[in-house]
Amino acid sequence: MPTPEKIYDIIIIGGGPIGIACGLEAEKKNLDYLILEKGCLVNSLYHYPTNMTFFSTSEKLELDNIPFISNNPKPKKAEALEYYRRITTSNQLDINLFEKVNTVEKKENKLLQVTSEKGTYLAHNVIVATGFYDIPNYLNIPGEELPKVYHYYNDPHYFATRKTVVVGASNSAVDAALEIFRKGGEVTMIVRKPEIGRRVKYWVRPDIDNRINEGSIKAHFNARLLEIRKDEVVIETPQGKQSMENDFVLLMTGYRPNFKFLEDIGIKMSDDGRKIPQYNPQTMETNVNNVYLAGVICGGVDTHKWFIENSRIHAKMIMEHITTKN
Ligand code: FAD
Repeated sequence: MPTPEKIYDIIIIGGGPIGIACGLEAEKKNLDYLILEKGCLVNSLYHYPTNMTFFSTSEKLELDNIPFISNNPKPKKAEALEYYRRITTSNQLDINLFEKVNTVEKKENKLLQVTSEKGTYLAHNVIVATGFYDIPNYLNIPGEELPKVYHYYNDPHYFATRKTVVVGASNSAVDAALEIFRKGGEVTMIVRKPEIGRRVKYWVRPDIDNRINEGSIKAHFNARLLEIRKDEVVIETPQGKQSMENDFVLLMTGYRPNFKFLEDIGIKMSDDGRKIPQYNPQTMETNVNNVYLAGVICGGVDTHKWFIENSRIHAKMIMEHITTKN
């Protein structure tokens, strides 16, 4: 529990790769900082599928030029966990895990008060690096609340020999469909568009196209899921409505940042539906003085705009501004 008199230079909210990058940079600048993370270390990555391979090569995921050695050019999830874990422990980063931040409020003397479920902290600056992996994009269809429906996919074994519907055509959907098929599951993909997503990893694309063309994975394009029932699903295709026997549904329809958390801090967002938070792209400071954004959160609804590769730079930009302002 912090002493109430203590005033941090920076409180960093989120212990993902970019929150860690900010912690590292704050260390280098001798700033008094604390990272607050609501789950385990790099919580989002920890919840990615067990067998996932990053689309980035390992050097693109490096923080502060600390070498990331992986067995193959593109690392696996376990290697990334090892990398970020080693950075945190060997640099003795100041991080409180399993401590969710609830509010950030302005106090007198330009101070910011950060209240978590475990305590209250005062700081001159706050960095919000809370990512986007918390809230799934719900379809809001009947049956979505059934226990056989999942918005996160982990491992294929559970689905072996079962009839599984995978909704979506992005990397997550394609990886899940291929893995489950290879572990003996009967997979049907429901795809809103006329083809598999254009961002699907270039080395995976031929695999999914060939499996669909040979019929070993079924796919309905220009289709949507209308209803999920205990033992079947109802879909709408260009040929009309049909129902199919079904055991499990994986809704791989993406995720969105916690916009309410940003709004409650006072951060303004574009009202064009994209919900892009207002920040100065040179300094990363938001419209709320001394509150900064870092990482994937900066993209609003477009969670593909920023990723580790291109947002790790935010840490240096923010620290540069914090140490030179006033
Ligand atoms: P996150 O990693 O999401 O970290 C945010 C952290 O904030 C989380 O740990 C969360 O628990 C915590 N948090 C949230 N709210 C609170 C709160 N109120 N209080 C305290 N803590 C909170 N990017 C690449 O560059 N290359 C890749 O190859 C790549 N592959 C990907 C594969 C998959 C399957 C997915 C889903 C994403 C991939 N990405 C990749 C994207 C990348 O993982 C994200 O861009 C990255 O995690 C962003 O880091 P971040 O620190 O901004 O956010």
